Amino acid sequence: MGKRKSSKPPPKKQVAKLPKHFDCPFCDHSQSVDCTLDRENGKGTAKCRVCNAFYVTAIHELSDPIDVYSDWIDACEATR
Ligand SMILES: [Zn+2]
Repeated sequence: MGKRKSSKPPPKKQVAKLPKHFDCPFCDHSQSVDCTLDRENGKGTAKCRVCNAFYVTAIHELSDPIDVYSDWIDACEATR
């Protein structure tokens, strides 16, 4: 029986600070939109946790949350 090594805390990674929360274009709540990137499936989702409006768009390797959000804004403006 081998001893289990106690799990070390994860090393601090240098992560560029990118905004992940944005203003909702539907309910105008500030910072209520969360963007998640599903890189495995090439899918980005922006969702408002206040009014549940959401938007899904295709992403690529270098996409950032703000790219998903700006796509959403573009799509909103296109339908106006
Ligand atoms: Zn909203």
